[in-house]
Amino acid sequence: MIADYNTMPEMFSECNKMYFNGSLPTPKYGIMNKLNTLARFEFNRNKKGKHPIKWQEIKFSDCYDFPEDVFLNLMVHELIHYYIAWNGIRDNKDHGKEFMKIANELNEKYGLNIAKKYDATSFPRTEKAHQHKGLMRFLFG
Ligand SMILES: [Zn+2]
Repeated sequence: MIADYNTMPEMFSECNKMYFNGSLPTPKYGIMNKLNTLARFEFNRNKKGKHPIKWQEIKFSDCYDFPEDVFLNLMVHELIHYYIAWNGIRDNKDHGKEFMKIANELNEKYGLNIAKKYDATSFPRTEKAHQHKGLMRFLFG
């Protein structure tokens, strides 16, 4: 599954409904031409006293043709970051206690495989990946 402006919103919608009770508003979407970052959640914090975040974007790399289950797990991974930010939950680090608590609950309940990192060495690459020379064995979600 190649991340684009159709596949990302479709997968977002499905995962938001299925795992977050439809509670997350539609974000912006972005594409990054990166081998060493598969997906990212970016946001801006709001001022004190207002809703915790005011702008949010989900980005995927266009260098891979992700297996469908990987695409889903990456999306849920980013939605956990989104959920934590949206609800103003404090975590001790990026993939801290709160993140792992939610990830483990979803993994157990739905048989997902949400991890901190993913090994992308076996994923097929798109022609967009050929612009890159350097290779990294372990890649961050
Ligand atoms: Zn992450």
